[in-house]
Amino acid sequence: MSNNQPNSLTTSIAYLKGVGPKRAELLQTELGVFTFFDLIQHLPFRYEDRSKFHKISDITADSTSLQFKGDIVSKKMVGVGRQARLVAVFDDGESTMELVWFKGGKWIMGQLPVDIGVVIYGKPQNYKGKWNIPHPEVERADQFESRGGGGLHPVYSSTEKLTSRGLHSSGLGRLIRLALGEVHREIDETLSDQMMAQLQLPGRMEAFDKVHSPKTPQEAERALKRLRFEELLYLQLTLLKQKQAMTVDMEGVRFEKVGGNFNSFYNDNLPFELTGAQKRVMKEIRADLNTGWHMNRLLQGDVGSGKTIIALLTALLAIDNGYQACIMAPTEILAQQHYNGIVELLGQMDIKVELLTGSVSKSARRPMLDGLESGEVNIIIGTHALIEPGVVFKNLGLAVIDEQHKFGVAQRSKLWSKAAISPHVLVMTATPIPRTLAMTAYGDLDCSVLDEMPPGRKEIKTVHRTDGGRLAVNNFIEKEILEGRQVYIVYPLIEESATLDHKDLMDGYESLTRRFPLPKFRIGVVHGRMKPHDKEIEMQRFAKGTTQILVATTVIEVGVNVPNATLMVIESAERFGLSQMHQLRGRVGRGADQSYCILMTKDEFSNEARRRLETMCRTNDGFEIAEVDMEIRGPGDVMGTQQSGVPDLQMADLMRDREIMVTARYIAGQILEEDPTLDSPKNQILKINLDRILEGRPNWSRIS
Ligand code: ADP
Ligand code: MG
Repeated sequence: MSNNQPNSLTTSIAYLKGVGPKRAELLQTELGVFTFFDLIQHLPFRYEDRSKFHKISDITADSTSLQFKGDIVSKKMVGVGRQARLVAVFDDGESTMELVWFKGGKWIMGQLPVDIGVVIYGKPQNYKGKWNIPHPEVERADQFESRGGGGLHPVYSSTEKLTSRGLHSSGLGRLIRLALGEVHREIDETLSDQMMAQLQLPGRMEAFDKVHSPKTPQEAERALKRLRFEELLYLQLTLLKQKQAMTVDMEGVRFEKVGGNFNSFYNDNLPFELTGAQKRVMKEIRADLNTGWHMNRLLQGDVGSGKTIIALLTALLAIDNGYQACIMAPTEILAQQHYNGIVELLGQMDIKVELLTGSVSKSARRPMLDGLESGEVNIIIGTHALIEPGVVFKNLGLAVIDEQHKFGVAQRSKLWSKAAISPHVLVMTATPIPRTLAMTAYGDLDCSVLDEMPPGRKEIKTVHRTDGGRLAVNNFIEKEILEGRQVYIVYPLIEESATLDHKDLMDGYESLTRRFPLPKFRIGVVHGRMKPHDKEIEMQRFAKGTTQILVATTVIEVGVNVPNATLMVIESAERFGLSQMHQLRGRVGRGADQSYCILMTKDEFSNEARRRLETMCRTNDGFEIAEVDMEIRGPGDVMGTQQSGVPDLQMADLMRDREIMVTARYIAGQILEEDPTLDSPKNQILKINLDRILEGRPNWSRIS
């Protein structure tokens, strides 16, 4: 927060007493701690009650980490080479045991105080009938007393390398308290008195003191909360400020009228009544488009929630106001499906729609590009091909981006640069993102949610079966096919062992052809090694019903729509991630018939896999699944590496501190709504600190 202040907060950690260049380097590489301030932000992850001292004779096989008081009476290095270790003898006044260091012994040897009372802490282990403690924490008893070490003891995360340099939890704690003493006077307040009073949070200086040396658990808790809240509040202020900059401060094209195209489509062509959620989202979008500001909206909606119609209605608004619209999809198959669907929905309306993908030939491309440039083409649907330099619009007013996860930020901004005034942007994703994550990763976007499925949709029944149940599963597949339905069977695709996966898939395919022989059954296969054109043909055969079973790797994950398919069998389901399985399951349940998903696994799998399978069987709700997914994998992995968008937080944690985040978001929103420029006196403190952040660390959020 105060990273660009010229004071000791930003002094390199190498200048802290007891650190030096070697340890400084380790602190940097292992913990990302560069400065005094970084170090004091390394907060404890839990606290231990260290008021009790044990005797060696108390140790039992069930003992966890214990604390003892006594003396180190001798120390020496024993063994040679890789066997070399430091062995010290500890005496608690009644009996003795050994303390052993297998790593870093030479260095620790020099630090161990002999015959000056010590407090030691560690988990005893039994070796040949005797208790010893490997790698205990050791602190001089007088130091322990003087810092009030007998109370609540902060526990810091450390690493093996740091531990071998004496920087285990308590070693780190010592450094942290030392650093805190050095910078204490320079810790400025960052929250207003009013806010602290309202939320019952301690001041910043006090909070740093209390987290690192608390007297009671309540004191520690409040101090932790204060620091986490502060970090999340500034994160949210930053994100909301950026949002302000992209909307309020950025001119957008104004779609003032709802014109002939929109109305005639709505009244004559719309094949169904919009769901309540769809109506609400259209209202949100129309409100954006009418402000003269720039729309930057994320539309989240589970597979099948009806995002396409929203994209089309919004495109019609653009056209009614004299602008063009583009819809960008991550794959050719999806772009093609959007194109087919939209052309069908538009029927006889006088709107020119084109499809531009990588496989459009040069000769077909030319007239398309000309039509875009002249304005004759109203809607263009396509893949990445749309962002190539040769694609020039007459007046692009709306960019819809489907399946956001597959696109990088840089690609998004390329689309924007295709118009003099940035087009309105609607990002659609079928991968629900937990609310708190959406608040940060997409904090610069407004969010709309389609949380209601079109009517008549039945829950997909999901079950888990092991190989022992395969015969029954095959019989069920047969039954569905004989009733005229179609079946997906999906195999995992893991990049590291593409060969093995391919073998799995082909073995599976072969045994299926034996169980479901021609001519009664027809099986298609689609995998990553096929040419796009061949894939396309196989997909089309399945879509037309020529084949009844489609054996595939996860290439079908995104978007294909075959309403007659009612059964999804996921093979080796233990190897799939939650959101991936949920996406796959979304391939079925698209028609009126009851649909099923069968998760096939071996008999044994990890607990984590069990949790995923149970979650899938329990619920069809994408948002609930996303929450569990985030709990299992953490926010970074949920967002994927491609555009992680997860902020780099020092003290708060997106998972653990979800509630604090919601509060911070709410409060930040209120403050900025009331005082958008933060000019009122009570907000000065926020303004000053926010400016510092915006100058010094501009990348708290993914900025397009
Ligand atoms: P998504 O892209 O969100 O996965 P789609 O837009 O492809 O979903 O819609 C899924 C299916 O539901 C399509 O067949 C679509 O025509 C249909 N649909 C969408 N909205 C409605 C609605 N309000 N009532 C009935 N059917 C709808
Ligand atoms: Mg879709």
